[in-house]
Amino acid sequence: MNPRIDIYVDRIKHNTRLLVEKAKTCNINLAVVTKSFCAMSEIVETLIDTEIKYLADSRIENLKKMQHFKLEKMLLRLPMISQVNEIVQFADISLNSEIVTIRELNKAAIEQKRTHKIIIMQDVGDLREGIFNDEEMISVVREASELSNIKVVGVGTNLSCFGGVIPDKENLGELVETAKKVESILGYPLEIISGGNSSSLYLIDEFKMPKKINNLRIGEGIVLGGETTCGLQIEGAYIDTFVLTAEIIEIKQKPSVPIGKIGLDAFGNVPSFKEKGNLIRAILAVGKQDFGAYDIFPIDTEIKVLGSSSDHLIIDITSCEEPYKIGDEISFTLGYGSLLALMTSEYIYKNIVCE
Ligand SMILES: *Cc1c(COP(=O)(O)O)cnc(C)c1O
Repeated sequence: MNPRIDIYVDRIKHNTRLLVEKAKTCNINLAVVTKSFCAMSEIVETLIDTEIKYLADSRIENLKKMQHFKLEKMLLRLPMISQVNEIVQFADISLNSEIVTIRELNKAAIEQKRTHKIIIMQDVGDLREGIFNDEEMISVVREASELSNIKVVGVGTNLSCFGGVIPDKENLGELVETAKKVESILGYPLEIISGGNSSSLYLIDEFKMPKKINNLRIGEGIVLGGETTCGLQIEGAYIDTFVLTAEIIEIKQKPSVPIGKIGLDAFGNVPSFKEKGNLIRAILAVGKQDFGAYDIFPIDTEIKVLGSSSDHLIIDITSCEEPYKIGDEISFTLGYGSLLALMTSEYIYKNIVCE
């Protein structure tokens, strides 16, 4: 079936085990982030016996899909007030920065006779979500701790997502200081001090992880065996966990530069081309509607990606040894952006491979 993603679940599981063990050396537990694969059950079920502590996703629809798994579920994206009922029902824990939202979560929790756990987010510089100043942090913690059906169980931060800020001893050190203050207000130790995402993993290798950090929320490290911001390649991890395969529908020798007056392409950009003489060009039946405008990497390294439109991917096979023909399949490893898009595309067949 084409186009498809072959999902090597055993490799994903291997990566998860590897990172669980790595994190353990710093007394850190993991929340496995399932959003990049839309919390697909066949993948999640292979991961639950790997000593991971939480299942985490940014979308409540995905947490709902994972209800039959016993592990505690964590909502990563700040709650929408319009969804507080579902959030209290399907998420055990949510990440929060707005007291007005926490009050609404409390009301929903009272109605459902549940206790909803919250992690309060601090922004230590990346400028996406989180409380930015100390006074607000203290007042939010004070008020939240007095709400009958809310339990403050942790503090956390997120880095390298919007601002590209790299986690280090200093900014995670700030989170640790906040954790201490919060604990003194609450009068009990926090269960979760969550020091970020896959971009924080390198601190373990370099023995720079502040001691009090006891949780990381890991997606990319598990699914792709690396991390983009810091260019981390995790030793011993697989990168070919999700492999895109698409079929060749045309092969022709054509020039490298289009003929005629050049306007805008289908996406409003002015295309530019280098003169490289005639090329053997192949067209694959997959396109931007499936992988967005994100990078994909041919496994046959002689192949060059020339570009794509909504439904077509154009590659240069001039220097390939393999005698490709119409109907052949070409495979690619993925970056985080293309993985997200492909797993979300309904035109891509999702094929679980057990090795
Ligand atoms: C997506 C997300 C993560 C996981 O990030 P990775 O870089 O894939 O490890 C962690 N925390 C939050 C809040 C997220 O939205």
